[in-house]
Amino acid sequence: MVFDGHNDLLARLWLSSHKDPVGAFLHETLDGQIDLHRCQQGRVFGGLFAIFVPPFDYVKANAPHIIVHYADHQTDYTTMQRYDICMAQFEYAQQIEYRSQGQVKICRSVADINACMQQQCLAMVLHLEGAEALTELSQLDAWHALGLRSVGLVWNQPSQFGHGLQAKFPHSPNTGLGLTELGQTWVLACEERSMLVDVSHMNEQAFWQTQQCLTQPIVATHSNVHAICPQARNLLDTQLIAVKASGGVVGVNFDTAFLRSDGKRNKDTPYEVMFAHLDYLLEYVGEQGVAFGSDYDGGFMSAHWPSIDYFPRLIDALSDYGYRDTRIENICYKNWHAVFNRIWKS
Ligand SMILES: [Zn+2]
Repeated sequence: MVFDGHNDLLARLWLSSHKDPVGAFLHETLDGQIDLHRCQQGRVFGGLFAIFVPPFDYVKANAPHIIVHYADHQTDYTTMQRYDICMAQFEYAQQIEYRSQGQVKICRSVADINACMQQQCLAMVLHLEGAEALTELSQLDAWHALGLRSVGLVWNQPSQFGHGLQAKFPHSPNTGLGLTELGQTWVLACEERSMLVDVSHMNEQAFWQTQQCLTQPIVATHSNVHAICPQARNLLDTQLIAVKASGGVVGVNFDTAFLRSDGKRNKDTPYEVMFAHLDYLLEYVGEQGVAFGSDYDGGFMSAHWPSIDYFPRLIDALSDYGYRDTRIENICYKNWHAVFNRIWKS
């Protein structure tokens, strides 16, 4: 069984030109890397499902059916438009739950996740990747009430919360200034609401500011080891040691550009390249601190793990590689489960 720390399914449904993306997720094999049937084949019982506003230019180039709704001269979304896009993606999650006839549930507590594990129902935990759309703490409360349990305050570009990371290669995670004062206030606000604070898209300074603010465990839902793949999104040894000291978790990202030492998107990436990150994380973060954060539907994958139904093959390969069953269980779901227990406190 697998709990996967990051996917971009909801953003992909929003980008889709399918007339009924929710129906397609529930009943068809979608073009992307995730649908319900393939989650079941992959023995994936849950994950963090990101609500994410794709960059305006990306949407312009890749989803003309959407961009048509924006004014011709526009070069970026307004805050209100961002908010609407987040809400549209939340509504996809809600429709999936509603129309799945008990096969999918939006989980708000560890008890919800436990129930999903027992009933073989897909547990969706909602994560906000980049919180630029939110301007008031009352909105954070409203989203918590809707089911949001995890927040990545900043994505790659600058915002009111921080100065942005930009996923450069090769580059150190030190890309300049970190969180703004408002960003630091919101880190604390997330902790007060018992939400995960995700450092996966923070630059180095923002990471250390977060580490100083938080008393709860630090999580990096989908990041890898900088010493192996020197991508700015990956974590330095000192950061890994800080995650361990906080009792936190790092979810390994399956995108080959974040795994390979040459930083390339390459389908011919073997398992061993991913396993080197797992080995390293086991050494630096410990067996309770390593998990998966695949980035399916948001990353460029190897032919060995092209979609979410390939998890059983990956796990067999890990077993052949020499990982014992208890270690595999920790990585596959127990570590995420334990960190939710510690942060959500219910
Ligand atoms: Zn991401």
